[in-house]
Amino acid sequence: MSPTLTLEQLLTKRTVEGVLFEKLPDHRVKCYACAHRCLIPEGKKGICKVRYNEGGLLQVPRDYAGALQVDPIEKKPFFHALPGTRAFSFGMLGCDYHCRYCQNWITSQALNDPASEEAGARPQDVTASELVKMALQNKCQTITSTYNEPLITSEWAVEIFKEARQKGLLTSYVSNGNATKEVLEFIRPWVDLYKVDLKGFNDKHYRQTMGGTLKPVLETVERLKTMGFWLEIVTLVIPGFNDSEEELRGIAKFIASVDRDIPWHVTAFHSDYKMMDTPDTESEQLNRGFQIGKEAGLRYVYSGNRPGEVGTTENTYCPSCNELLIERYGFQVMRNVLGSNGKCPKCSTTIPGVWKIPSRETNRVTIVEKTLKAEEALSQLQKS
Ligand code: SF4
Repeated sequence: MSPTLTLEQLLTKRTVEGVLFEKLPDHRVKCYACAHRCLIPEGKKGICKVRYNEGGLLQVPRDYAGALQVDPIEKKPFFHALPGTRAFSFGMLGCDYHCRYCQNWITSQALNDPASEEAGARPQDVTASELVKMALQNKCQTITSTYNEPLITSEWAVEIFKEARQKGLLTSYVSNGNATKEVLEFIRPWVDLYKVDLKGFNDKHYRQTMGGTLKPVLETVERLKTMGFWLEIVTLVIPGFNDSEEELRGIAKFIASVDRDIPWHVTAFHSDYKMMDTPDTESEQLNRGFQIGKEAGLRYVYSGNRPGEVGTTENTYCPSCNELLIERYGFQVMRNVLGSNGKCPKCSTTIPGVWKIPSRETNRVTIVEKTLKAEEALSQLQKS
């Protein structure tokens, strides 16, 4: 009988030479798949532990999944992309962060925390073609890299997404946003939707609780917008951690300064991993986050993870005439009157988002951009 391989041995077998790195003297490499930009000597691993230097070349994960699931696209959460459709979700193993409250810690903390392996983290062999086939068989319109940090396995995601695009699927990342300019340029031709988990507005918390820093995440948000990804932002509101008035206002003002049309999801935390003593988020705390977002001028703010307890704050309304456009209960779309052109049926304001699978003349998604131009022009006229 062959000996049982450790998780590390299993993952080492499922790697290939990467693209997102630079060769340096003395067989060292510099990885730029995430903003840690690890400088890795020969025989060592990066902070994520799943990219490592072998003989002066960076080996990166490939050909497996750590988790697979069919989810409503609202669960990612994307509220302005193909509402009511399914997203085929795959994850790998490992992360560049180690958040103490991670709700996907079994997959994300593989090799970083032995408890992950004990809890059953294992790679499941699968090819890019098989993943795309599964997405189509399950009637999904989007394929999503999620459950662990997609940036650190970007070479593999691009391989899958190239094939997915040929089959007419939309592609997406659910990410912590700790990206570099180079990795975003690498994925840009192949990724349509990008969700950033903006975990707070406090650099000290980013350093102490997540193992990252705030600045690169803010830069990623700005870059994603400039580069034309469809972007939505989520903040898990954690009592006593990031739910102060000051912090939530900081996040909301920052998003509004980039673009008031970026949807912001304020979602409820439940105790997990190393934050078992922190209470779950109450619906009142979400409602406060919602109000703060609105006061900052954001046009699309949503409360999440407390279906039925947060009034109408799960719905999409027209920002011009206040018509109810998409009614939701949790991840379910109860009613949707937006057509594939994304226009309000009452006043014809265009709601920004991706409301249909784009034509692939170019490799970029065509995002319906905001058309509150009349309103803005009017307001400017009134000021002048
Ligand atoms: S993905 Fe990030 S954490 Fe992993 S090796 Fe590269 S720079 Fe380091």
